[in-house]
Amino acid sequence: MTSNQSLEFDSIIVGAGFAGLYQLLRLRRAGFSARVIEAGDNVGGTWYWNRYPGARCDIESLQYQYGFDPDLAREWRWTERYATQPEILRYIEFVADRYDLRRDIQFSTRVTAAHYDDASARWTVHTDRGDAYTCRWLIMATGCLSVPKTPEVPGIDAFEGESYHTGAWPHEGVDFTGKRVAVIGTGSSAIQSIPIIARQAEHLTVFQRTPNFSVPAHNYLLDESQWQEVAARIAELRAEARTTSAGILGIELNDVSALAVSEEERRREFERRWAIGGFAIGGAFNDVAINLDANETAAEFVRSKIREIVQDPETAEALCPRDYPFGTKRLCVDIAYYETFNRPNVKLVSIRDNPIAEITPKGLRLQDGTEFEFDAIVYATGFDAMTGALLRIDIRGRNGLTLRDKWEHGPRTYLGLQVAGFPNMFTITGPGSPSVLSNMIVSIEQHVDWVTDCLEYLRERDLAVIEAAPAAEDAWVDHVNQVADLTLYPRANSWYIGANVPGKPRVFMPYIGGVGLYAQKCAEVAANGYEGFLLSPEPALSR
Ligand code: FAD
Ligand code: NAP
Repeated sequence: MTSNQSLEFDSIIVGAGFAGLYQLLRLRRAGFSARVIEAGDNVGGTWYWNRYPGARCDIESLQYQYGFDPDLAREWRWTERYATQPEILRYIEFVADRYDLRRDIQFSTRVTAAHYDDASARWTVHTDRGDAYTCRWLIMATGCLSVPKTPEVPGIDAFEGESYHTGAWPHEGVDFTGKRVAVIGTGSSAIQSIPIIARQAEHLTVFQRTPNFSVPAHNYLLDESQWQEVAARIAELRAEARTTSAGILGIELNDVSALAVSEEERRREFERRWAIGGFAIGGAFNDVAINLDANETAAEFVRSKIREIVQDPETAEALCPRDYPFGTKRLCVDIAYYETFNRPNVKLVSIRDNPIAEITPKGLRLQDGTEFEFDAIVYATGFDAMTGALLRIDIRGRNGLTLRDKWEHGPRTYLGLQVAGFPNMFTITGPGSPSVLSNMIVSIEQHVDWVTDCLEYLRERDLAVIEAAPAAEDAWVDHVNQVADLTLYPRANSWYIGANVPGKPRVFMPYIGGVGLYAQKCAEVAANGYEGFLLSPEPALSR
């Protein structure tokens, strides 16, 4: 596409990950014209960018897939309990081809600005190629974890070796053979990549600011009957997933307090779930997320496992999380993470009280002056999550109000779907919706279905404007905060509250009330004529 074109569509979708692709398909089928704009040169979103060694889903593959088309489920065969990044990317590419989606996607193009015009009730969307698109409906499918965050320490550009961020990994891969490597960070991305990098590198040093709780994946190959059984029932299973709290099926919830059973029984229950692997441990008792004493039993169980696995007692202690409750940062799911610290070529350096002061041309220096030399540094330092991708775009709503000003003290939305003052703009898995606390594909499908149904409703009634009412937004924001405060989650310095980005407002961003209750609320809002939203006809007609 050439630059400086003016292009008109019913809707512009920003992002070609799981959300943008499904949104495009639904709008096309509903008869709306739509164009997707994507910064990357192909589809995939998260799975296009995060190509670091060991990247996999932590929700089981059979559930981490679209559920909207039984034929699609029958045609795709998942090979492992937790699919690798290349397999998930192949799946998304298969979906794009199967539904002929690429013809409506503008790749290698970044949206830089989106401005709403009151008089025409339309958005103008500007890109880094100089194009200006106009549309009635602007759908932000920009992702919750799509803006990599590099530490704010001096000298990063001065490093003479190779630097990588897990969230922007080179497509051709990286060979660490014979190299001295540093990994900074111990979140999910680090925990997945460290075991593989350790096997390749001559030496690996892991810089840990905060240890994470990690549970074993117990990954295995799927046999034919397992995926066929799911494929045959995919619609029913997806509908059921939408009624659960995290959009995940098969996690048996034990409706008993961790404090109501004997120590032996508690240990047995934790052991049983540790042996199942993945998030099974999350359902062990009903009060781990809300009662600190109950939570401590789960935390201490995982610490006991770390001490069992890691041979050097000092390293084991350093790997034990202590200063936030179990599960209040995203639980990591690993393949031989703790075991990796038994390798002679791997060293853990705690930088909790001795942070990185500077990246030097040869490596890095800690605050106490200790220097390290490396051939490569891997930043596994996470993302400017949930609001980052939206706030990087110059979004201006009614009367020129900027989203940056509106969200100066943290994101405010109605249902995580719309922002008061920004008519006709929707956020897929936006802050204030269950999003990152759920199986994201379940939440993405629920949002995309809701938005598409809403646009059809408006079209049938000749309505041209939908906007969250300020009072409905205020009430929803209060509710999101109240529910979060009932849990232990806000006690952790997590990316859920923006703690990983210096200066970011500390607000618990996702909705923790559960996918089931949330989806029911969205359905009721729609059934009541989009309660809490202001609907109006074409501006010219309404005058
Ligand atoms: P994304 O996949 O992030 O796609 C957003 C797209 O928007 C990107 O391609 C980006 O380039 C594009 N974009 C953003 N801004 C602009 C702009 N201004 N202009 C143009 N394009 C733009 N969730 C789970 O439920 N289970 C998992 O197992 C799981 N594993 C994960 C593993 C990793 C390594 C990461 C980082 C996240 C994981 N997640 C997981 C969360 C994951 O992000 C979601 O599951 C899902 O892939 C999100 O899809 P999306 O389409 O909403 O966003
Ligand atoms: P993350 O969880 O935010 O972890 C980032 C790590 O970098 C943390 O250990 C953090 O320490 C550290 N860090 C950040 N800045 C630092 C600094 N200046 N100095 C030293 N250490 C610093 O990011 P992530 O691992 O990329 O994961 C983000 C999310 O993506 C996950 O929570 C999950 O939702 C998703 N994900 C899922 C999978 C999966 O298993 N499928 C894999 C990867 C990612 P602090 O904790 O002290 O801030």
